[in-house]
Amino acid sequence: MAEYKGKIISINGNLVSVQFEGDVSMNEICYVHVDGVRLKGEVIRIRGNVAQAQIFEMTNGIKCGDNVEFTGNMLSAHLGPGLLGQVYDGLQNPLPELAERAGWFLERGVYAECLDLEKKWDFTPSAKPGDVLRAGEYFGTVPEGPFTHKIFIPFHFLGTYTVKSVAEKGSYTIDETVAVVVDERGREIPLSMHFRWPVKRAVKCYSERLAPTETMETKVRLIDSFFPVAKGGTYCTPGPFGAGKTVLQHTTSKYADVDIVIIAACGERAGEVVETLTEFPELVDPKTGRSLMERTIIICNTSSMPVASREASVYTSVTLAEYYRQMGLNVLLLADSTSRWAQALREMSGRLEEIPGEEAFPAYLESYIAAFYERAGCVRLPDGSQGSVTIGGTVSPAGGNFEEPVTQATLKVVGAFHGLSRERSDARKYPAIDPQISWSKYQPVTDVKKTAFCKSILLHGYEVASMMKVVGEEGTSLDDYIIYLKSEMTDAVYLQQNSFDLVDANCSKERQRYVLDKLISVLGSEYALSSKDDARVFFNRLRQKFIDWNYKEYMSEAFRAAEAEIDALYEEGCGKVSREAELLIKGGE
Ligand code: ADP
Ligand code: MG
Repeated sequence: MAEYKGKIISINGNLVSVQFEGDVSMNEICYVHVDGVRLKGEVIRIRGNVAQAQIFEMTNGIKCGDNVEFTGNMLSAHLGPGLLGQVYDGLQNPLPELAERAGWFLERGVYAECLDLEKKWDFTPSAKPGDVLRAGEYFGTVPEGPFTHKIFIPFHFLGTYTVKSVAEKGSYTIDETVAVVVDERGREIPLSMHFRWPVKRAVKCYSERLAPTETMETKVRLIDSFFPVAKGGTYCTPGPFGAGKTVLQHTTSKYADVDIVIIAACGERAGEVVETLTEFPELVDPKTGRSLMERTIIICNTSSMPVASREASVYTSVTLAEYYRQMGLNVLLLADSTSRWAQALREMSGRLEEIPGEEAFPAYLESYIAAFYERAGCVRLPDGSQGSVTIGGTVSPAGGNFEEPVTQATLKVVGAFHGLSRERSDARKYPAIDPQISWSKYQPVTDVKKTAFCKSILLHGYEVASMMKVVGEEGTSLDDYIIYLKSEMTDAVYLQQNSFDLVDANCSKERQRYVLDKLISVLGSEYALSSKDDARVFFNRLRQKFIDWNYKEYMSEAFRAAEAEIDALYEEGCGKVSREAELLIKGGE
């Protein structure tokens, strides 16, 4: 591509204004030359022949008059086999490789190839000469970890392409030509296994978008039964500092029922990413028995990296997600935290001297957030198969105040809202998703009527609890007190879940349905309890038995034994199941 030149005329932190000669376009990559080092940046506004660019690196040493070269290319992701298992920064530099080259402290202007150019891949052709293909259709495959990686006609190719030749089955590097296609004007184009795609543009090489209807199991009871997420849907997890957003995302990334997980650590403390990096390679994927890292990509952008690259990391990660969706896979993108990205936007907007919106965020904050979540979706691909990108983003509002712009803008576009509350996390009730404020538009794994029954007891119990704070236990009737105990028990045995216990953290939908039925029969029963003390003792025992039950492997002998103990205690309390609960349980079968 042609390269254009320019000179810096003013500097404001990460933002530089460049007077250019030639033809510069938005989102174009540029390099600033400083003391023999090339720093990477991106054009974010053009006024006449002055381009304003954000620099993705530390900008000390940059001065007016420095030379800038524009590459003619937009900020783009490099797509091809070998992405899985990688740890990248926001600009898709493989971090382990950078560390090897630069040591403990990253140097400026050091870039590394994001895909291995030497590794050979076992290519199997799937198209033959004469086949007519479009962008997003594939002409061959290579195995990548447990998946079949499809080799596509690059997404930016317009019109139809006739296959002239395809390489034979064999090993090739990603750079070797594996097919030659002829475009509509008769030009021959050699294709290799990799290509680039501008990260800010959504990949649209699908036949149709489908409504997200299939539930994505996260194995977290509170989410799957009460506030579910659909494959191809979107959800957000706002919560105050330390409420458990990151831990919840880590749990989801391990157990969620998806093929590929992309973790975008965006502007959070480095320590959190270190945990992921050290933990993941050792973990075993519960579905395939292989290393969890084989199906994970980590885009790592911590608070110590320049703010401008947060934006790049968000878009790069969603582009990688769309790429794997195109192969008919279900991809989950977890972004932690989108607030940090919004803060980066605010910072750049301030430097651009734009008119500020609410809380000094730019006026286009909402549309940017909406555009990001819109890239999620369940789609039908040209070959008839389906793929999905599910996006889950955390939001870290200052002081846990959900009325702030980022949370509100996110709430408008997502399909499920998991609000974490300080109150619950302080009480060590994890996951700290507050059932009183959370909601979801998707279909749960359990019967809706059953969860509604539990939710009504829960909420009734919360009311009694707050009333009891005023009138005391003495002023509460026995019936109300029992409702309160039932609600507390539901919270403790079903909503709360130990993320650090292998069995409890991974609660399948079958198990959730089974446990929920048992819980409903307990909640929907009358007991021969004559005093509040009796009631408290009884429900505390019952609660403990349920918790023990949660730690037993599903349908194992120990599981059966623990269940029998619950049944025995139920008999002891002379439990009589109500007609409503009985109908509910029967109706679900
Ligand atoms: P955030 O990302 O919201 O700032 P973290 O996810 O880092 O918060 O959680 C903070 C701390 O809360 C964790 O270090 C852990 O001790 C505790 N915690 C969070 N979730 C759980 C959980 N499910 N089980 C047990 N402890 C948890
Ligand atoms: Mg966190």
